[in-house]
Amino acid sequence: MVNDCVSKIIKPAILAAKAYHVPDAKGFIKLDAMENPYVWSDDIKAQWTECLQKAELNRYPDANASELRRRLAAALSLPDGTAMMFGNGSDELIQIILMGLNKTSNVVMAPEPTFVMYRLLSSMMELDFVGVPLNKDFSLDLAAMLDAIKTKQPAVIFFAWPNNPTGNAFDQAALEEIIKATSGLVVIDEAYHAFAQKTMLSCLKKYPNVVLMRTLSKLGLAGLRLGMLFGAEEWIAEFDKLRLPYNIGTLNQLSANFIIQNLALLEQQAAQIRHDREAVFNTLVKIAGVEAWRSEANFILFRVSTKSADAVHTQLKEKKILIKNLHGTHPLLENCLRVTIGSDEENQAFLVALSSILSG
Ligand code: PMP
Repeated sequence: MVNDCVSKIIKPAILAAKAYHVPDAKGFIKLDAMENPYVWSDDIKAQWTECLQKAELNRYPDANASELRRRLAAALSLPDGTAMMFGNGSDELIQIILMGLNKTSNVVMAPEPTFVMYRLLSSMMELDFVGVPLNKDFSLDLAAMLDAIKTKQPAVIFFAWPNNPTGNAFDQAALEEIIKATSGLVVIDEAYHAFAQKTMLSCLKKYPNVVLMRTLSKLGLAGLRLGMLFGAEEWIAEFDKLRLPYNIGTLNQLSANFIIQNLALLEQQAAQIRHDREAVFNTLVKIAGVEAWRSEANFILFRVSTKSADAVHTQLKEKKILIKNLHGTHPLLENCLRVTIGSDEENQAFLVALSSILSG
């Protein structure tokens, strides 16, 4: 009875979709979700909780997050005239961008494999998602992209830069060629900026059809849910109409205000992660039966050849280590897995476990 009612009322695209699955990670070494492994010192925690005392939870949050806006503009050295808006994670910003599309231009494009949310949210909104395969080495297939732009005329093209799950940052000249070739909006998603140490922010001034996203999630605040969208006032003003007025809660605003004063701490952690990424990579490639790709993010994509990725994933789980199995998600990711760079102890536990699984 209820089923009949649900299937009549809910969009077919939602009925057909699978919910985004987040595995229960209690008791695991958690290297599956690109989180920062470091917790704050007691001293920082005490300063932070003191800050939170200012919260007036009986009131709605500052709908504009003005204080946060001011602090971020100062901290990020944004190009003059750049407008910004915040999302409950950059996931929400992707959703907002897609919600704003004109009905007559409903093609969304991205090279694939990439961050799954671009495709997932597009299909839930009944938009036409076109994934253009990357080359085998995960570089951008520029000719295929330009061809797809010509034939499909996308309204929006998403580029995760560096890309998830491959870890590489596409060639910037190729990206700019695409930006010039499309009449659609290009979204540069710099979620992993802290680990790549390069930015395409300058494109905001150079091209009218570019906006750029960042997030605090990978930098160390995945629990906070704060995504940022930067672009010309004309774009941001429209997207801002789609944002729910109080999408960033008071506690989140206060916490973000606090951490911006302590950005050096997060940057130090990111530097440690970049350093450890190289060490993990160098060990990974020496394990027989492993092919790994260099990464500019806080994770590494690798392929196993002597056992299936499914078996490796399961056996790591038995050893209480959780990484991401990508086998079956895209033809280019056959027997591929993705490991997030954790603390030194976690990385060592993962490398030892993987070696023993592959030699067993
Ligand atoms: N963009 C990319 C490329 C990502 O990989 C992720 C998270 N995996 C996100 C955006 C979402 O980040 P947030 O936590 O800000 O929603």
